[in-house]
Amino acid sequence: MRLVIIGGSDAGIAGALRARELDPSCDVTVVLDDAYPNFSICGIPYYLSGEVVDWSKLAHRTLEELSSYGIAIRMNTRALAIDRSRHQLLCRTPDGGSQEIPWDRLIIATGATPVIPTIEGLSAGLQTDRVFLVHTIADA
Ligand SMILES: Cc1cc2nc3c(=O)[nH]c(=O)nc-3n(C[C@H](O)[C@H](O)[C@H](O)COP(=O)(O)OP(=O)(O)OC[C@H]3O[C@@H](n4cnc5c(N)ncnc54)[C@H](O)[C@@H]3O)c2cc1C
Repeated sequence: MRLVIIGGSDAGIAGALRARELDPSCDVTVVLDDAYPNFSICGIPYYLSGEVVDWSKLAHRTLEELSSYGIAIRMNTRALAIDRSRHQLLCRTPDGGSQEIPWDRLIIATGATPVIPTIEGLSAGLQTDRVFLVHTIADA
């Protein structure tokens, strides 16, 4: 069975690990839109406070560990469209091209987007390097 998971953070990786645990023959691919698979988002405040000095230490597992569990990780790969009749996931690849990935089962684990409150000046501030959201490892 080919399981494809969109999203490589807490939910996506938990799904991938559990699938492999239940069925080691399961072919699991995780596509994520960034380069930070299985990082501790909850650890960002400790990085900002300086208690964690090296941001890469916020990784729950390394890429090598994830691979050793039989999980294929496709970083910087954005899911663009789901073809339900052909069971294909259209993705934008890191080089800017596109590729279809076949799936038998698909899990969507794309998280949430922050609510940006209507505070005057906020939208313009977010375009600068002095006002930040705290949501992703890239934000940190
Ligand atoms: C600062 C901070 C501190 C927190 N502290 C705690 C805490 O102490 N305890 C706690 O329980 N929770 C905490 N949380 C909440 C917790 O981090 C989230 O609930 C958790 O990260 C959600 O995981 P997720 O996998 O659902 O989504 P996310 O972590 O948001 O991950 C989404 C994934 O989907 C990918 N993605 C999105 N769109 C696409 C697409 N089109 N194609 C491919 N990939 C895509 C992203 O690249 C990413 O890999 C905290 C959150 C923040 C921001």
